[in-house]
Parts: sequence; C-alpha cells; structure tokens
Amino acid sequence: MRYVIAKGSFLFLFFWSFTTVAQSALTVKKSLILMGCAFELSASADSEEIAWDAINQGIEEITRIEKLISSWDAKSQTSEVNRMAGIKPVKVDKELYDLIYRAKKVSSLTDGAFDISFASMDKIWRFNQTEQLLQDSATVSTARAKIDYKQIILSPKDTSVYLAEGMKIGFGAIGKGYAANKAKQIMSTIAGVKGGVVNASGDLLSWGESQSEAGRNISIANPKNKNQPIAWLKIDNMAVVTSGDYEKYFMSGGKRYAHIINPKTGYPTTGIASVTIICPDAELADALATSVFVLGIKKGIELINKITRVEGIIINDEGELHQSKNLKLNYY
Ligand code: ADP
Ligand code: MG
Repeated sequence: MRYVIAKGSFLFLFFWSFTTVAQSALTVKKSLILMGCAFELSASADSEEIAWDAINQGIEEITRIEKLISSWDAKSQTSEVNRMAGIKPVKVDKELYDLIYRAKKVSSLTDGAFDISFASMDKIWRFNQTEQLLQDSATVSTARAKIDYKQIILSPKDTSVYLAEGMKIGFGAIGKGYAANKAKQIMSTIAGVKGGVVNASGDLLSWGESQSEAGRNISIANPKNKNQPIAWLKIDNMAVVTSGDYEKYFMSGGKRYAHIINPKTGYPTTGIASVTIICPDAELADALATSVFVLGIKKGIELINKITRVEGIIINDEGELHQSKNLKLNYY
C-alpha cells in the first residue's frame, strides 16, 4: 500500500479509516480533527500500550500548540498580538517568539514570498469555491500595504512582538508543519516507540520504523483528479508537505485563485495547482510549499535546488510536473 499525497486527501481517509483501529499488535493509529483539519497519528511500539501513550502525548502537544498560535482563538497569544497592533508590544512565550523569528527567516530566504503578515488581507478574499468578481485594485493595495514582515518587531530582551497599526499575523502556512515536528519530537523520545507518522490533512511526517511499507512509499496525486496518482517516491524519515488549490480557492474570469496571497501584489496566486516539498523538517517543508506557490515555477525550483536536503515537485494548472534536480521520482 502506498500513501497518495493530495491536499486534504480523501484517499488518505479511505486508506486510514476514521475509526480508531489497531492495525497490528504493535501499530496503532487515530484520526481526529486538530487545528481545524483532519489529523492522523500513528505509532509503532514494543507494546500497544506504549504506542497509544505516544499517540495521546502527540495529540496533547498539537492541542497545546493550537492554543498558543491560533489566530481564530481570541484567547491565544497570537490574537493578543494582533489586537495590540499599533498599540503596544505584547510579551509572548519564547516558543511563539521563536516561531515568529523563524517565519521571518523564511521571509528573508524567499524574498518576502512567505509572510505571516499576509493575514491583514483576510477580510478581502473569500476562498469558498465560488465564481467572484476580483476586488478593485484600490481596496487590495490599501490592505496589501499592511503586509510587511520587516514591520513585525521582535524584542529578544522580553520576547515581545509588536505589529504596526492594521497589521495581523497568522500561521496557516507553517503551523501544521511546526505541530507535526513537535508531536514527532515528543512521540519519538518515549521509550519503546519505534516509529510513527503524523499526517495533517496530507502534510505528512514519518520517522523510524513505520508500519509496513506505508509511510515510506508516497504517491503524488494528480491535482485535477485526486484518485489518480501520477508519480511516486520512497521516503525515509522525511516530511512530505503539499500546498494545493483544490479546496480553498475561488474562480474569476475562468481563472482559479488559490488561498495563498502574493505579498507583493495582494492578489491570490494563479497558475500552480500543487506544490509538494520533501525534506526532513516539516515546518520548513510547510513554509516552503506556500512560498513556492508565490514564487512560481522558475524561481521556486531555483530556490529548492539551492537548499540542501530539500526537494520539491510543482504541478501547474495544465497538469505539467516540474521537479527539483536531485529528486528521484518514479512515474506510473
Ligand atoms: P494548506 O493550508 O493547504 O496546507 P499552506 O500550507 O500553503 O496550505 O497554507 C496556506 C495558508 O497560509 C493560507 O490559508 C493562509 O492562511 C496562509 N498564507 C497565505 N498566503 C501566505 C503567504 N504569502 N505567506 C504566509 N502565509 C500565507
Ligand atoms: Mg505551508
């Protein structure tokens, strides 16, 4: 059995039923909603009891992170930072501070294609799969002027974060990857745990001895037809993260606009259907998948090729596949 990677993959849900089952004596898995999306955690261990302990600790960790970083939850530190934009700096946990620091690093690395302050645009676009008229350029450029990662002011002394007036941050493009890394960290250090998989709606991190072949052979789905895999690859201790335009998008003038904003224009991206990043770090993979959507095929592949141990696959609207130079892909 191979996993087929597609955003919010139904195939995943097909392979991994939504009930909680023990696949063999030593591997258990659980499917549930976390961070507003379908997560599946699996663990292989010396005993079923240890494997369940790992899964439960993984779930606890992801729930804890969600409370800290969610911009939907009015009680989170992130929401407080957003509320205080233009008013005052907000002292946050070192953990959140460090996440923002790393997000800003990815912004520099991608020349601003990745920018967590994209969130000031969240009132402008509605990615509800409908046909829409594009917003007029004055409305877009007023909101776009508030996107600027350089205006996210971090003070290391008191781990505080200050946003200029009207700015807003959100971790939609990096949070699931971060949570997967942290869940793995906790699960894999439990004595007796041999391996596991954290799968956040198609963003997958697998490590150690995964159950059977699953988690090692990954198929890349055709964005136009999720049931039709177009290529596959072997992975070992890797994150495979896909950003796609399948679910969150709108249509305008015959074009599909994905839920990823180009910070330079304020408009959602067009032309790319999916980006898959393969690298050991799920957080980086998540952030880069989003970035490559914005950068486009040429610059995106150039960036992936420059970073060691990062590979990627881009599929455009016409279904053409572009890949990084060192990736060993097998075609069907
Ligand atoms: P998915 O949610 O499909 O896994 P991504 O990881 O690419 O996809 O995250 C997309 C989300 O990232 C958007 O819904 C939005 O919350 C946020 N986002 C949009 N544009 C940007 C951007 N340029 N930089 C950082 N985050 C973004
Ligand atoms: Mg992402």
